[in-house]
Amino acid sequence: MTAAPLTISVLTVGDELLSGEVVDTNLPSIARALSELGLAVARHVTAADDIEDIARWVRELCRESDAVIVTGGLGPTNDDLTCEAVARAAGLELVHQPHLERDLRAFFEAMGRPMVEENLKQAFLPAGSMEIPPAGGTAAGFMLELDGALVAVLPGVPREMDEMMASHVVPELSKRHGGGEVTVTRRLMTFGAGESDVANLLSDLIGKGPVRYGFLAQSGPIVVKLTACAASQREALEIIGREQALATERLGALLYATDEETMEEVVGRLLRESGKTLAVAESLTAGMVCARIANVPGSSDYFLGGVVAYSSDSKREILDIPDELLADGAVNTAVAEAMAQSVRRLFGSDIAVSTTGVAGPGQGGESKPPGTACVALAHPGGVVSLERRLPGYRQMVRNIATMAALNAVRLYLS
Ligand code: ATP
Ligand code: MG
Repeated sequence: MTAAPLTISVLTVGDELLSGEVVDTNLPSIARALSELGLAVARHVTAADDIEDIARWVRELCRESDAVIVTGGLGPTNDDLTCEAVARAAGLELVHQPHLERDLRAFFEAMGRPMVEENLKQAFLPAGSMEIPPAGGTAAGFMLELDGALVAVLPGVPREMDEMMASHVVPELSKRHGGGEVTVTRRLMTFGAGESDVANLLSDLIGKGPVRYGFLAQSGPIVVKLTACAASQREALEIIGREQALATERLGALLYATDEETMEEVVGRLLRESGKTLAVAESLTAGMVCARIANVPGSSDYFLGGVVAYSSDSKREILDIPDELLADGAVNTAVAEAMAQSVRRLFGSDIAVSTTGVAGPGQGGESKPPGTACVALAHPGGVVSLERRLPGYRQMVRNIATMAALNAVRLYLS
């Protein structure tokens, strides 16, 4: 027995969203938060900072929805009109909230700034609405009923919006949604094969069981998204856990992480577990591999450093790559191997990885075509390398090559 899912609309407010100056990240955040409840966004509208327009869309969306989530325009400036517009749509007065005024004054005092009268606007809420206390900023959110729909009004600032979604809106929707199905998702991150190859490996699972498969190609990784619905969270987690085990077996070494873990976190974890240290020599990726490794807190425990040797001269002079190797250009596995071995000696690391290639769009004086990438990994027992022809434009080639270098370290350690 399952209730019909709630119909949910999102109204994001702000001229800056319509002009393209700010990319709307609130809609995807809200969609993600709702997906935990097995709910989805049915409709999304972006309104200008215009009181009539906002009020009209609030009324309109309430007619066709069980809940309308509004973000943006709760600030103190005269282009922040959402509170007034929602009150107007609902036919409610704005009522002064002494405790919000007190907190606003305290906020400005703590910052050592005078509070201008305009800020007092943020101490008013529609009569009878339920306040959502400010979440790090000065704007309070609120919820009210209009035309049988729940209207939740949140600040535009993504962090404040996220916090209020989690603390107030999701719990309220969960109550109303009680009895519905629960959806859980899991993302299996793969690297090293194309989308159709990954789908092929899973072909005997797709469409067979209760779990839905989706594929998403990022710049390099292919994400396999599993979705399971069940009457309870526990049941849904069990179903998805069983499917994950089957898919994991099929994907083998292509699978590098599940859900949010990044490639550099996986590499960091493996280096830490094995007690090994890493150094990097980069040409094609010019520092991107190092930057990714250093994204991880505590990476100084295993990451010794790197060299960007972009020109042939610097490869010769800093990394001691012999002239004979560079005679055919700098893009081949022999050069990549020499770079990795050299930087390993230079830093005294256990392992070292290197990149060289042609990022494109031109050939940059190399004989190899744009998109050629070589990665090598030097370790105590020797050196291994690979050469690939990568698709895409310059930045994509460099991104994928960065992932390939990290992936080489992962494969060696696991
Ligand atoms: P505040 O009290 O902080 O002013 P607010 O509700 O008035 O909150 P806005 O003035 O609309 O929020 O926007 C505050 C910031 O949040 C701006 O930098 C704005 O660009 C950003 N922002 C607003 N809406 C969105 C959105 N949908 N996606 C991403 N960023 C947004
Ligand atoms: Mg605004």
